[in-house]
Amino acid sequence: ASAAAAAEEPIQPAVEVKHTQLLINGNFVDAASGKTFPTLDPRTGEVIARVAEGDSEDIDRAVAAARRAFDEGPWPRMTAYDRCRVLLRFADLIERHAEEVAALETWDNGKTLAQAAGAEVPMVARCVRYYAGWADKIHGLVAPADGAHHVQVLHEPVGVAGQIIPWNFPLLMFAWKVGPALACGNTVVLKTAEQTPLSALYVANLLHEAGLPEGVLNVVSGFGPTAGAALSSHMGVDKLAFTGSTGTGQIVLELAARSNLKPVTLELGGKSPFIVMDDADVDQAVELAHQAVFFNQGQCCCAGSRTFVHERVYDEFVEKSKARALKRVVGDPFRDGVEQGPQIDGEQFNKILRYVQSGVDSGATLVAGGDRVGDRGFYIQPTVFADAKDEMKIAREEIFGPVQTILKFSGVEEVIRRANATPYGLAAGVFTRSLDAANTLSRALRAGTVWVNCYDVFDATIPFGGYKMSGVGREKGIYALRNYLQTKAVVTPIKNPAW
Ligand code: ADP
Repeated sequence: ASAAAAAEEPIQPAVEVKHTQLLINGNFVDAASGKTFPTLDPRTGEVIARVAEGDSEDIDRAVAAARRAFDEGPWPRMTAYDRCRVLLRFADLIERHAEEVAALETWDNGKTLAQAAGAEVPMVARCVRYYAGWADKIHGLVAPADGAHHVQVLHEPVGVAGQIIPWNFPLLMFAWKVGPALACGNTVVLKTAEQTPLSALYVANLLHEAGLPEGVLNVVSGFGPTAGAALSSHMGVDKLAFTGSTGTGQIVLELAARSNLKPVTLELGGKSPFIVMDDADVDQAVELAHQAVFFNQGQCCCAGSRTFVHERVYDEFVEKSKARALKRVVGDPFRDGVEQGPQIDGEQFNKILRYVQSGVDSGATLVAGGDRVGDRGFYIQPTVFADAKDEMKIAREEIFGPVQTILKFSGVEEVIRRANATPYGLAAGVFTRSLDAANTLSRALRAGTVWVNCYDVFDATIPFGGYKMSGVGREKGIYALRNYLQTKAVVTPIKNPAW
């Protein structure tokens, strides 16, 4: 059924591509070089549109616009309440255009329309409103210094923020980055991922309709080693925020350090454990573990990609996980009832299939999937490996695809040790009815998020980020504000300290 579905004629998206140029200083403009690049429909590999290809000259123009908007423009100077209102109007506009925004996201990325429209666009609006609410609630403090000094600690915007986002959640990453930066009064140059440039241009236009002054948000489409590297190493950028792979995170951190030591926050890869204890309701555990890894075609930095299952429930768990994967509906992400669309592009598609081969070669048991779906686009069968061993590549490296790797364990101490034996530390899942097991595991696991009896809960108020090589710093919640504020101490003598 899955293969037939993917072979159908692609459904025509209910949206037109309106914006393909760079957004610099409030205007849509061509790249300085005049170059463009194609953005592809992952369902077919065909071109959706050609998009202006920004490189270092365009980054220069965008940073200059952001600099001017910060140094001379109204944005950091207007009342915090007025900034709040621009962001609130933006959230309203996103909701008004929700259908087009979601369709564009599905078209460019391949994620299901149900997910884009039902979850992600509402989360984007929610995130923007959350940070809108912070705009006029950021304030400093007075330090109780010894001696005759009055000490004010001011929280000021950092300045020009450079932001680089990935292709797996283009709009949500836009909101996580732009929301706190703008609420704090910064100006922004955002570089989108080359695979998914469309939705950010669309909503950035809405943000201007909401009253954002020119130059405050500049959006440059383009490639990593050109536009992304130019932004990371730019002397006029005061802060860099990056979401992507760990290897690229190391590159941008180095570029930032070698240029002007701009502070960097990084949200990177993961190999997150999902731990099923022996007291778990197996049917529920199977479903949650399945969602934890297969959500968004498996293209999540926090995917629960190492499924650790207690030996007492292991055989039943594997059988049921296999059945669940075989039932997963793969097909055109615009079609109702489809759970899994295509992978983002040919590169990821090939990489995932290489990992599948490596799983087979290393002796893991392939219990479901393992092949492509159909002969067009980048669809992959929901794949399950059982009897995996910790040292196998499929249990160590980030696959970023619909591949579940099931490992057997027999005790809490053991699973803690094995779950933590990874350079990553982004997230973890724990499934149990025991409060003691939940408490022990959630404290022992070295990860930025531990989801207990749930997974992938991304509320705007919850901080998100990694331990170890999964990242530096936190996004969302009040923690993201720290990334976009400078701290200034103002010290004045007091004439009469008695008062
Ligand atoms: P992936 O391998 O999944 O595409 P990347 O980490 O390479 O993940 O991509 C995330 C973002 O980082 C994208 O916007 C990409 O263009 C950008 N990027 C890639 N290489 C570099 C680089 N050398 N410097 C700056 N940004 C980069």
